[in-house]
Amino acid sequence: MKFVPTTCPYCGVGCGLNLVVGGGRVMGVEPWQAHPINEGKLCQKGRYSHQFIQSRDRLTTPLIKRDGAFVPSSWEEALGLVAERLSAYGPEEIFFLASAKATNEENYLMQKFARVVAKTNNVDHCARLCHSSTVSALSEVFGSGAMTNSIFDIEESRCIFVIGSNAFEQHPLIGRRLVIAKKRGAKIICADPRLTPTAKAADLHLPLRPGTDVALLNGLIREIIKNGWEDRDFIEERTRGFGSVLETVNKGAYSLENAAEITGVHASDIERAAEWIGTIKPASLIYSMGVTQHTTGVDNVLSIANLMMLTGNVGKPGSGVNPLRGQNNVQGACDMGALPNVYSGYQRVTDEGSRERMRGVWGAGDIGDPKAGIASTEMMKILAEGAGRIKCLYLMGENPMMTDPDLARVKKALENLEFMVSQEIFMTETAELADVVLPAASFAEKDGTHTNTDRRVQRLRKAVDPPGEARPDWRIISDLAVLMGYEKEFSFGSEEEIFEEIARATPSYAGMSYRRLEEPHALQWPCPAPHHPGTPILHRERFATQDGLGVFSAVEWRPPAEVPTGDYPFILTTGRSLWHWHAGSMTRRSESLDTEVKTGWVEISEMDAREMGIEDGEVVLVSSRRGEIAVPARVTGEIKEGVVFIPFHFRECPANLLTNGALDPVSKIPEFKACAVKVEKMRGR
Ligand code: SF4
Repeated sequence: MKFVPTTCPYCGVGCGLNLVVGGGRVMGVEPWQAHPINEGKLCQKGRYSHQFIQSRDRLTTPLIKRDGAFVPSSWEEALGLVAERLSAYGPEEIFFLASAKATNEENYLMQKFARVVAKTNNVDHCARLCHSSTVSALSEVFGSGAMTNSIFDIEESRCIFVIGSNAFEQHPLIGRRLVIAKKRGAKIICADPRLTPTAKAADLHLPLRPGTDVALLNGLIREIIKNGWEDRDFIEERTRGFGSVLETVNKGAYSLENAAEITGVHASDIERAAEWIGTIKPASLIYSMGVTQHTTGVDNVLSIANLMMLTGNVGKPGSGVNPLRGQNNVQGACDMGALPNVYSGYQRVTDEGSRERMRGVWGAGDIGDPKAGIASTEMMKILAEGAGRIKCLYLMGENPMMTDPDLARVKKALENLEFMVSQEIFMTETAELADVVLPAASFAEKDGTHTNTDRRVQRLRKAVDPPGEARPDWRIISDLAVLMGYEKEFSFGSEEEIFEEIARATPSYAGMSYRRLEEPHALQWPCPAPHHPGTPILHRERFATQDGLGVFSAVEWRPPAEVPTGDYPFILTTGRSLWHWHAGSMTRRSESLDTEVKTGWVEISEMDAREMGIEDGEVVLVSSRRGEIAVPARVTGEIKEGVVFIPFHFRECPANLLTNGALDPVSKIPEFKACAVKVEKMRGR
């Protein structure tokens, strides 16, 4: 038996774990005691992360669809077919979906393939669905769209404002840091429509209505200014644009009474939260998708940045604006340029200097036009409107048939494609619609790196061989590129060779190497030179904006795109659960996790259930303007009246059949966190 230290494949915390290997199989998981993030502890998902690897459902051979059914093929035949079909499409007709589940090396290669081989910037990944609002907003106001502080640093906070994040269930090993901070005397405030385990542990719960974040934040800012708790020195020395925020929040719309009316939070609780955030130092703010997944996602994040700059809580230990990334490598996939507007390191595709640099690193003359591609959510919209403009989709580890909003529309969109390729470890709901499915390796079957939520670039280490003929994603992309005539640009012999190119191409990773990442604490970007120690806290002396100043933004509250009506009187909010992850393709194939929670549910308040005569456990019909699902009711005192919650992991009751595809105008993120639904008894259905 041997222990192979690697990184958890689930959430963005990036816990270290040991895969226990014997007889060529992964027998179990043991925590990695010396790992600084999780200090020898794992949550349920990490503890059982080996189980799906050996599922009998793993894809083991390439599959080509013939007459509507998949037929096994050789790699030669499958890649030959893909190469031939891809060659026929122009840059505007093709789209690539990279993946936050894949490694940095694989995401880097996928965007390089899009740009060097297909000459297109039409490449994106699932950050579009979770934290594109963070990337857009924080890049604008801080010059960097990432968590400002470190996970350890949470313990240094004296006041922690958690908004739109259920860290205890979605990022449990960050939840543990909240517990430690609280034991040390920190005050914890949690704003969430549900009384989640995180909210229960807080000193103050603000049960706001979904989609009212800006009203709450402007109300808090106004209260802090009214009481003179703002940090004048920080505002004057480190920021610009404060006057516009002052003007906005001083409007009557954000008076204490109005903020309470819009949000549904008691005025006295807003007052108390403002006092704690304004007077206790250092204070930090943690947020997640409850903030970002709105048509006002960018505005919500801008408001958060306003609050923390107002109180001088940026660039210091125990402070900061801390977005918790959902998937294991969503930070890395963004860093690697798996986005339509930037190359790796957020170098703009429209900037001639960046293009020159990339042409030099890639040794490629033509890397497509200097024009940003489209977002994946825009691609789906275009496809749903009709066949013809986008003809080919190449996916790596993505499953939009579970994860995108308005699934009926997604299905229609994908059926309008001429050709679809899916690199996958399981036959997902999306892969079923593909023309070619290429079997990929899981996290335990390859080397590489992931970048966790606090910008820490960590090693993934191969423990066992992939099953059957499955190959790592990076190998599949390289093989295809070579077949299409790009041997010089894609002749990589190992993951480490790809990482060496990443370091050459990406200024914030320039000082990193596999050798330097061997230590469990790894390195946090920016790490611009070989002896640079990495950067645990951003913006200490200056922001990463051009003039070094943080930028205040005047933000007005707007309601969600869909609000409750007589026909659809409830607000649906969606999310994850402790025992399952994302589209469920991995956790639902983990026996220990699946045994605990076998299907989905709709959470509904006791008062609403009583009015409709709904019993706990009764199967009810939940419908929106886009679809309906039958799902068991979970009647609880832990959700606000008028709000229902459904987790999106379960294919038999998929929450995303109901959700709204309306997008934030800047980040193009869909509004997963608020749409109008009705709940009915089944009445003989
Ligand atoms: Fe894995 Fe996240 Fe759990 Fe850590 S907290 S073990 S990274 S799922």
